[in-house]
Amino acid sequence: MSTRTWCLETTDRGRYCRLPALTRLGLTHGFSCRDLGSSEADGFLAGILGLQQLPLARLRQQHTSTVHDVSAELVKTPPVGDALVARQAGWALRLQTADCLPLLLVDTRSGHYGVVHAGWRGTLAGVLHQTLQALHSAGSGPGSTWMAIGPGIRACCFEIGTEVVTAFRARWGERTRHWMRPGAGSRPHLDLVAANRFQAAQAGVPAAQVLDTGLCTRCRRDLFFSYRGDGGATGRIITLAGRP
Ligand SMILES: [Zn+2]
Repeated sequence: MSTRTWCLETTDRGRYCRLPALTRLGLTHGFSCRDLGSSEADGFLAGILGLQQLPLARLRQQHTSTVHDVSAELVKTPPVGDALVARQAGWALRLQTADCLPLLLVDTRSGHYGVVHAGWRGTLAGVLHQTLQALHSAGSGPGSTWMAIGPGIRACCFEIGTEVVTAFRARWGERTRHWMRPGAGSRPHLDLVAANRFQAAQAGVPAAQVLDTGLCTRCRRDLFFSYRGDGGATGRIITLAGRP
């Protein structure tokens, strides 16, 4: 039996998605739906979530494994990077994605939190691994770290080329066969969720503390932008997370 981990919230401007369990763990968050658009979704979401007073930290995302601590300087001049870590409340963290996985992290003991942009390149480069290391080196413990997996392209839809399979095998070894699925065509499919669950487990995060929306952006184009599903030119899902 599987219980739905996510819910849709409806506003007068459009909908967003969240995980009630993550809200209860103290991380205010939302993933914008297609009907919220992209260009003003972050300001609107911040207002709805009650995060509008907080400095909004964003990145120039480039599928790297670079993690940044939030700071006033970073808010002023967003650097290249694909993960943000806040060591205290008072920051709103933002990601934009359309198929790549948005991952949210919160440590219930220290209160530290973070967001991670994990597509295949970032996952290959170990962006989640790097972010968990940054959190844990700053006093968070794996035993009190929770992770949530937002809407992104899933193994059902994520066809990849053999060069990607080869790159994963070179970096992560034979275990990567558990992250590949046969597709309908000749190309394999990549299970980004499995690859990131592995990185979380490797960092000591208990499997029971990984919450997954289970939402595939390509299957659920009724709700979310999908780069592949929309043929490349599309909007972005805005992810916001913060602790006021
Ligand atoms: Zn799918």
